[in-house]
Amino acid sequence: MRALYSRSARGSVSDLGEKALIRRIARWLGAASPKAPAGMGDDCAVLAPARGRELLTIDPVIAGVHFDGKVSPGDAGSKLVKRNLSDIAAMGGAPRAAVIALALDPRVSVAWLEAFMKGAARESRRHHVPIVGGDVASLPGGFVATLALTGEAAGRAVTRTGARAGDWIYVTGVLGRSLETGHHHAFRPRLAEGAWLAGRREVRSMMDVSDGLAKDLASLAPRGCVPALVEGAVPRRKGASLKEALGDGEDYELVFTLDKGAGRADFEAAWGRAFPSVRLSRIGSFVAVGAPPAGAVRLSDLKGYEHLRQA
Ligand SMILES: [Mg+2]
Repeated sequence: MRALYSRSARGSVSDLGEKALIRRIARWLGAASPKAPAGMGDDCAVLAPARGRELLTIDPVIAGVHFDGKVSPGDAGSKLVKRNLSDIAAMGGAPRAAVIALALDPRVSVAWLEAFMKGAARESRRHHVPIVGGDVASLPGGFVATLALTGEAAGRAVTRTGARAGDWIYVTGVLGRSLETGHHHAFRPRLAEGAWLAGRREVRSMMDVSDGLAKDLASLAPRGCVPALVEGAVPRRKGASLKEALGDGEDYELVFTLDKGAGRADFEAAWGRAFPSVRLSRIGSFVAVGAPPAGAVRLSDLKGYEHLRQA
């Protein structure tokens, strides 16, 4: 596995210098990076206006936080693009264009960075998202790559608010043990699924599961309501406990709520036709505080991932 830092000055980004590094980055990105004015090489990239609602999101990958030495640089680069794609998917949108800001230690290896950027380029080509610009800055002692991504929602953008008491809660895929299994970088963002769900009026709210289902569900809860989950209905990754399925982060699945008055069976059958190989689980519903039905899972001791809280 390539190491993040070069052992000698030769082979490090400081040896290359900023101008040459930027030329290299453009070369590594290849077809993922159009020419100015639509891409790299001017003060800004110039984009055509979106046809629908415009979406904008930003997320970094940080060495030692979002990846470590067990993750290849190519996988770390592809994760940078995919975790942003997952946020666009969570609104029911389609991605449009990205910019990347790198903050890196001068000792970062050129070979490592090449593999990282090529991983990002591969993912951006796969989803037809040009990388239209960026920035390079020095960060002694670390490596942070931040990607900002625009997207558009053809119809409505599905937000986190909109669920009502009694609405059903659904989740795609399986949950838990993302870190241990490599899912945190190997996942496929649920773009097609998110866009399809946005087209279904009975879907009232949606988000992606990044901090752990227990914590993320709180963001979807209508005022005065809590999620009441059925233990056996929570889809677990192989080997994951219920606690891991609810509390681990970085699942990058979609969790959404369905109008309690809608035709649930019709909806589930339509999903099965549209995405026959993607598991969909109805895991519970939102109920009034203090009225959890018998057998509902208690979420109070499962906090999910808190970004700024000390352990
Ligand atoms: Mg998100």
